[in-house]
This record gives sequence, structure tokens and C-alpha cells, in this order.
Amino acid sequence: MVACRLRYPLALTVAGLTLLAVFLASPRADADTATHAFPIRGSHSYGSELSRYGYARGRLHRGQDMAAASGTPLVAVTGGRVSYRQYQGGGAGYYVVIQGDDGRDSVYMHLQSAAFVAPGQRVRKGQVVGRVGSTGSSTGPHLHFERWSAHWYDGGSAYDPLAALKSWDVPLRPSGLTARPGSDRVSLDWADNPPEGDLAGYRIYRRTADTGYVRIASTGASAYVDRAASRNTNYDYRLKAVDRLSNLSGYSNSASPSAEAAPTAYAQTVDNADPERFFASASWSRSTWNTQRRGADYRYARPGAASDSARFRLRVPRTGRYEVYVWHPSGSAYSAAAPIGVRTTEGMRWRRIDQRTGGGRWISLGVHPLAAGDRESVFVSRSTSAPGYLIADAVRIVER
Ligand SMILES: [Zn+2]
Repeated sequence: MVACRLRYPLALTVAGLTLLAVFLASPRADADTATHAFPIRGSHSYGSELSRYGYARGRLHRGQDMAAASGTPLVAVTGGRVSYRQYQGGGAGYYVVIQGDDGRDSVYMHLQSAAFVAPGQRVRKGQVVGRVGSTGSSTGPHLHFERWSAHWYDGGSAYDPLAALKSWDVPLRPSGLTARPGSDRVSLDWADNPPEGDLAGYRIYRRTADTGYVRIASTGASAYVDRAASRNTNYDYRLKAVDRLSNLSGYSNSASPSAEAAPTAYAQTVDNADPERFFASASWSRSTWNTQRRGADYRYARPGAASDSARFRLRVPRTGRYEVYVWHPSGSAYSAAAPIGVRTTEGMRWRRIDQRTGGGRWISLGVHPLAAGDRESVFVSRSTSAPGYLIADAVRIVER
């Protein structure tokens, strides 16, 4: 068991009554992870009773000893200002004292080398200030950590920091949880917590419409498959990170496979401006005049004897039913019966669209069976006896 045997430069006599007063005057206002961080960024242990704050072997041990590997980063528990950085060969070794913005001093002893921060320097909560070592009077690498009600040997009194330490000693709240439904399972994924700290894994919680969150599993990985999910139940999931001391983080975001269950329907929009997906002869002129156009411009052509279609090439990811839409600007000089064809698995399906009205929005041509593939699928033909310009602007398909 590591422990420190410290001789302090300043003697401090602490009567029992004073100790009691200090205890009563040490509210756990600092037990807040929003404002305070655990001082060791890495695996650690609190050790035995000998590591505790209090009288042992006839003297007051003013701090908590925590064992950790040599070189483990030590961080400021709260924002503050460095007041001492010194070396004491027969006692504290390399040590640093930080005056916290919370009005309390924190003291770190037995650092591997001189602290990284100098007296007078501001530090942020979580800023690395040194590394765990075993300098001074120490039997192994550990941090001797003190908390003082005010300034160190200057108006303040040391108090037992263990409750605050344990309240700060929690893993980071996991994030990025997603839930993906399968036919007989739900697959969960989340972002890995940073490797520092003594993270042991994650606990997974699930609820239904009828129950609160119930822990269903633990895992050391950052993914989990819930094979006990039944198909017709809506679940919410969330998780907590847990460390080797069984400290739990706060809850992650929650994720629900039902909310994401409808796999996003495939949709594709093709504008006449796309040279890879729109094709028309030179008889189809370009215009930007009508403000109901979609995109930068549209194409227009006079009716003719030949089809000479403007063609939209669509990618259909899988054979199935798709709603097909067209977009055109409208105007009184446009066609009253523009022939628009859709290539379906059952052949071409033609409809005549009045382009004099209804412009500037998607107009459905109905739901059609389309075959998987990437091909010219929607056609605007010039072959019509109706007067007025034929317009080709944009098409859209949405999987149904
Ligand atoms: Zn100690």
C-alpha cells in the first residue's frame, strides 16, 4: 500500500473542536462535476484506510492518497490561480498549490517532476498541471491530494476531500447513441469515451411506453445488439459509462429505433441543369425568364412532329414502387397537353400535363413500378397537337 509520510514546513495544531468545526463548515458545494474535475486523469485507486484523511499513527494526514501509475496526468480540479510550486525533499517532493475560483485551495504532492504551471499562472478546470510520481517521502507512485477551506496554511483548514473526490470521479457522459432496427434485433452504436480515465464499460438501459428505464446489459464495447427486442414494441435506449470503481456517468442521449425505423425513403431529384442526367436536342432552348423555374434555368421547345424528347436519367436503387413528380414553371404560352412519359416495369406510361397552370411546385404523375437501374426514365415529348411551348425543368422520384 502506498502512503506518504509527510513532514510539513509549518506546524499546524488542530484541536478536535477545530476539526469538528471544519467538518461542519465544509459543505459539499464543490461536489459538482459541472465546476470540478477529478484530479487524476487515468486509472487510480483510493487504497485502504491508511490512505484516508485523518489521524493515523499519531499524526494528522491532511489529504487523501490515491495510487496511480507514474506519469499519469494530474489536472486542476477547478479554475484558479497557482500559488506555490516547490520541492520538499523529505516530505511532499514536487508539489503545487492552486487557489481555486471556488475559494478553496487544492494541493498536489509527490509529482514526478516540477509542476507544469508557475505561481501566479491561471489554470482552467481540467488543465494538466503535472504528473503522478513518487518524489519526496513516498513508498510508491501516488497523488497526495488536499483540499483546504481557504488558503493553504494561510487562513484555511484542510478537510477530508474524499466525498468531493468521489463525486468528481465519474466517467464522461457517453454521446452519439444511435439505434438501428433489424427484423429481430436493435443495434446500438455510440461514440467511444476518451481512453483516459479508468473506464470499465457501459451500462445499457431500455424503456417501453409502459415501463421506466431498466438496465438490460453491460458491455465493454461501444456497440451492442439487443436481441431481446420484440418486433412490435417501441423502445427508447440510453446508456451510462461506468468506471472500475463502479462510478456511473450521467445518461447519454436517448435513441429510439422506432423513430428512425422507417428507413429513409429513397428520393432523387434531377434538374435540367445536370449534364449527367438531363439530355435534350438543340431544339430545346434554355431560359431563365420564368421565376417559377426550379434551379438556374429550364428548357423549352415548340411542339413538333417528332418526339425529340427531353430525357431525365434516374437512378433507381431497387425495383419497387416510386412516386414520380415533375416541376415546371407555368405560363399562358405553354402547352395545354404536354406529353410526359415514365418508363415503368410495365412499359411507358404517358400523361398529358397542362403546363399553363400549376407551376412552381411538384406535380405528381402517380406511383409507378420502376426497375432497379440507372437509365433515362422520364421523357417530355414534343409530339403533341396542342399549341404552346413544352417545358422541361425537373423531375423527382420518391420510394413508396
Ligand atoms: Zn498522503
